[in-house]
Amino acid sequence: MAKYTGASCKLCRREGCKLFLKGDRCVTGKCALDRRPTVPGQHGEESLRKKPTGYGMQLREKQKVKRAYGLLETQFKKYYLEAKRQKGATGEVMLSLLERRLDNVVYRLGFGVSRTQCRQIVNHRHITVNGKIVNLPSYQVKVGDVIAVKQSSLDSPLFKELKGSKIIAPKWLEVDSNTLTGKVIANPARDDIDLNISEHLIIELYSR
Ligand code: SF4
Repeated sequence: MAKYTGASCKLCRREGCKLFLKGDRCVTGKCALDRRPTVPGQHGEESLRKKPTGYGMQLREKQKVKRAYGLLETQFKKYYLEAKRQKGATGEVMLSLLERRLDNVVYRLGFGVSRTQCRQIVNHRHITVNGKIVNLPSYQVKVGDVIAVKQSSLDSPLFKELKGSKIIAPKWLEVDSNTLTGKVIANPARDDIDLNISEHLIIELYSR
């Protein structure tokens, strides 16, 4: 089988961890990081041996989380600034805000295979929140919100096979795979975020 060298996989290899950007491929033996866990480029092997320190580590951590959620720097920094404004540990609040983005919630509910695909699903007006179409991927869900695949999209090839399948959602979300409907039953807790993140490094970076 040919080696897969997609741009998304290069991001995972750069960060040295799975960012789950390619849907099913990420959880099968086809994952590029499982097959070749080196940093891409001519000096990849070498840079893997060199452990970054201080600023380098903080920067890598920020890039990792930013890329996992598919955000640009300005968008990502807004989450930090908003988290800083809110009560609580800034790092945890920032992750909670990121998790509550509508595109991420659609991903967590299993309505798409990657955050990138889920962003398109939202952009293409397939998703309703409390019965109204919301096409803003950054929309922040709150406890009690009902997120669903719009009735007229249920028979689209995107969702047809999903109906009635086994979907495992994190504990802060409830999902009904028969109707492709989900409900936010709590705010995401720190342990609901399955990426290996040291958020304090990001906070240190932005506090410099
Ligand atoms: Fe590619 Fe997914 Fe593996 Fe990342 S986790 S390297 S995106 S297959």
